[in-house]
Amino acid sequence: FITLQHASKSFGDEVIFKHVQAQLSKGEILSIVGPSGSGKTTLLRCLAGLEPFSEGDFIIDNQNVTKLTANKRPVSLVFQQALLFPHMTILDNVAYGLTFQKIKKEERGKQAQEFIEKVGLKGYEKSFPHELSGGQQQRVSLARSLAISPDLILLDEPFSSLDPKLRHEMRDWVRKLLKSQQMTAIFVTHDREEAMQMGDRVGVFHDGVFQQIGTPQDVYRSPVNPFVATFFSDCL
Ligand code: ATP
Repeated sequence: FITLQHASKSFGDEVIFKHVQAQLSKGEILSIVGPSGSGKTTLLRCLAGLEPFSEGDFIIDNQNVTKLTANKRPVSLVFQQALLFPHMTILDNVAYGLTFQKIKKEERGKQAQEFIEKVGLKGYEKSFPHELSGGQQQRVSLARSLAISPDLILLDEPFSSLDPKLRHEMRDWVRKLLKSQQMTAIFVTHDREEAMQMGDRVGVFHDGVFQQIGTPQDVYRSPVNPFVATFFSDCL
């Protein structure tokens, strides 16, 4: 369903990643885990269209989207921080993304409402972002991303600003939500345990390539090289 072929990215002389290959089937969640600075965020930004790939092809459902601008790609990105519009209600924040789609105003409201309920925030439609906790705000940003019905959702350390207990709860909850929507997702984290819990498969990113992509059991029990083995060695 999703194919990334020979994807490379450099900033000037600095190579961030080179000839990256990956495939995802529909409804699959791929976790990408790697040390800080390994280029995970840059990869997501390129997939979202916020940054061009230096070379390579990105194909979604048989359509080559490499040259499409961010707003034309069927891809949605959830950032580390919720990044909601402070002066807009929760309902308007979620409906905002739909204004770029050819949907009638009342239909936009209905669709936004549906996703606010899906993320468990019924009753908060008229609230403003500052009236919500960090976890709730992150749920709103998830609703906003899901509401536009993307083919692929990208999550960049979405729980990093939350406290550890909430982080744990959000993992299970977000995974269930994505699965119930049969949403294809790429989840970036530097937390190995989180990567294993969230992903159907885990991609270990280091030195500008995937060192290994496999099920959580595969990367933990059958590491293909010393880097992967060491990376997961103290992770229970
Ligand atoms: P972290 O987990 O710490 O967020 P990461 O794996 O997401 O790290 P990136 O943020 O993608 O890594 O950064 C990878 C490298 O790319 C870094 O060395 C960074 O300095 C470099 N980089 C990112 N954006 C730019 C840019 N716009 N111009 C130049 N270099 C950049």
